[in-house]
Amino acid sequence: MAVGKNNICHCGLSGKDYGNCCGRYHTGVKDTEKSPLEVLMTRYSAFCEGKADYLLKTWHKDFRPDISAKKFSREIKNGGKWLKLQVLGVWLNEDRTRAMIKYELTFRDAGGVCRSICISSFVYEDGKWFYTDEVDSADNNQLPGELDSKDSVLRELAAIGIKA
Ligand SMILES: [Zn+2]
Repeated sequence: MAVGKNNICHCGLSGKDYGNCCGRYHTGVKDTEKSPLEVLMTRYSAFCEGKADYLLKTWHKDFRPDISAKKFSREIKNGGKWLKLQVLGVWLNEDRTRAMIKYELTFRDAGGVCRSICISSFVYEDGKWFYTDEVDSADNNQLPGELDSKDSVLRELAAIGIKA
């Protein structure tokens, strides 16, 4: 899938083009280690690019689906088109080993354009951040307030060298 006309990376977070943003992670030039936000943004872009190998690599082994990269890539290409990522809040525990990120995903499938609020969970292990699974947001009262904090997003963007 081609990057949009204005050449801004799919994730839309850095203002840079794909090759200088998420593309560096997908080719292994840059590794994800500083913030779970790197994992979220690069996985979003990997879905846009059909990079199944990267999605499996950044998925924690205990949660990763048992599927080949080839088959997974085909499933992604046959699925809906991801249009926009908007990060709403980032929560990290004190020792930065667990994280949750709340975001709004805009996508288009057979039914038209939809928006969905998601919360993804991440864990830091062996010097790397991994995506684990989705958090059930039904019980919103139990979730950390940072998940609705713009400041928490700016802080994590700064941690990965992005000035918003
Ligand atoms: Zn990007």
